[in-house]
Amino acid sequence: MDIDKRWKRAGALWMAWFAVCGIGVLGLAQTTCPSAAPAAIQADIERTVETYARAVSEAGGDVGPLPEVAVLNTPYLAHFSQKTHRIVIPYWPPQESTVNFFLTLTAGDEALARELFAELFGWFLVAHELTHWLQTVKGAELDYYHAEISANDGAVAFYNLFPESEDRLLRLDALLAGALERLSDPTPASLDPVTYFNAFYPSLAGDPYRYGYFQFRFIRESIARRHELGFAAFVAALGSAGTNAEP
Ligand SMILES: [Zn+2]
Repeated sequence: MDIDKRWKRAGALWMAWFAVCGIGVLGLAQTTCPSAAPAAIQADIERTVETYARAVSEAGGDVGPLPEVAVLNTPYLAHFSQKTHRIVIPYWPPQESTVNFFLTLTAGDEALARELFAELFGWFLVAHELTHWLQTVKGAELDYYHAEISANDGAVAFYNLFPESEDRLLRLDALLAGALERLSDPTPASLDPVTYFNAFYPSLAGDPYRYGYFQFRFIRESIARRHELGFAAFVAALGSAGTNAEP
C-alpha cells in the first residue's frame, strides 16, 4: 500500500476516534474511549506486517499482496480473515465481556489485565495472525489444532529475529502462566484434546475461557521451544506442512 493511502486511512480513523472520544475531553464519554487511538495502533501493526513480509521474502518465500489491517473490537478478538484478506486486532477497552475475562485472568488487577491484553493483541498475536496469513499463502494443510500451534511457532520464530524480544517473550510467558491458573481444561474425559479442539472449534473460538486455555498453553509451549525455532526454516517447512506433519 502506498504511503498516501495509509495516511488517508489513518486520518479517517483519527476523525472517527475523535468523534467518539473527543467528547471525553468534556467529561462525557471518558469511560468508553480507547486508551490509545486505534490509528496509532494501526500504524504500529502495519509496520509489523511490512517487517514480517520482508522477513518472509528474505527467507526465500513469495508473499504476494500483503493483508490489510483493521483495528476493531469484535467477539472474535484477533483473527485473520481469508475472505477479506485482512488481519483484525482489538484494542483496549474491548467489549465488556472481554474486559471481564481479562480481569478474571488477573484476579481483578486492572494494570496486569491491560498489560496482558496489550502484550497479546498489540504484539504477540500480530505475528500469530500474520502466520495464519502465511499458512494460506503457502497452501499449508493443517487442522485447526495444528494451525494454532504453527501460528504460535511462526510468531516466536519471527520475534527470534530480534534478540531484544526474548525478555518480552519471557514476560508474556509469565503473564500467561498466571492466567492459566485461572482457566481449566475444557476437554471432556471421553475425548483427546486434538479431537475435541478440531470438532468444537467454532464454539471454542467464541468462548475465551475455553479457547484461552488452549491458546495460552500453545503460546507457552512455542515460547519454551524458542531456541529451536528459526524463521527461515519455519517458512521453508510451512509449504509442505500437512495435518500429519510434526507441529
Ligand atoms: Zn490463531
